[in-house]
Amino acid sequence: MTIKTLAQQKEDILLLMKYAVPAEQMVEARQLLNRYQTDIIAINLLSAFYSYLPEGLDDTVRELRLLARRQGAFLIAAITYHSAYFYLVTVNKAEFLGDGKDGVWDKEIRDFFELGSREDFLKKTTNLTNFSEHTPAHQDEQLCPACAAADGEKHVLGCPVEVCPWCDGQLTSCHCRFEQLDRDHLLGERELAALEEKLAKKGRIPYDSAKHRPVYPTAGDGDEPTPTT
Ligand SMILES: [Zn+2]
Ligand SMILES: [Zn+2]
Repeated sequence: MTIKTLAQQKEDILLLMKYAVPAEQMVEARQLLNRYQTDIIAINLLSAFYSYLPEGLDDTVRELRLLARRQGAFLIAAITYHSAYFYLVTVNKAEFLGDGKDGVWDKEIRDFFELGSREDFLKKTTNLTNFSEHTPAHQDEQLCPACAAADGEKHVLGCPVEVCPWCDGQLTSCHCRFEQLDRDHLLGERELAALEEKLAKKGRIPYDSAKHRPVYPTAGDGDEPTPTT
């Protein structure tokens, strides 16, 4: 699998927008894309939106509002000319949840974000301007730049910024995971689950923005961040 750079994903979105965005809204659509062009969270959402227009109607994302955020997962409302659509977004993908009124509010998601009952949530989201605009994730100092976990939260497993609790090295590149599982390579889901269990027992090191935020010598797309420790 090849991973597209943000710049490539932006090009793809621009192409999709030609078919999705009414001509008179194109300037606005591009402005929003430019504002978020280095934020993988927003890019994943926009790419999901413009690939599968929720109602099959030409439409434009005008604003992104952050409803909730936890451990690298973002619940975001994309406000458009027709409606507001909810997405569950991580650095890996964006999942369309529905437009709130017909609610695809599965309990698992509500519980994860501690949103209360469906009714509570619907009440809260009647006025989306109560929620602040989504800050481009890379500009948010509180977030891990690789997996978007917040200060004090666990990283998404596989995040290159996560510090190994056994050796203090980089968890994705040190050898501890092989030693812990007594294997010379990891085979798949089962090994990953076993590793996650061992990590939980040992105690994972949460993201600490003051200590772990990588320092980029040059600003560029697609570079793997490296921890400073
Ligand atoms: Zn991370
Ligand atoms: Zn290690």
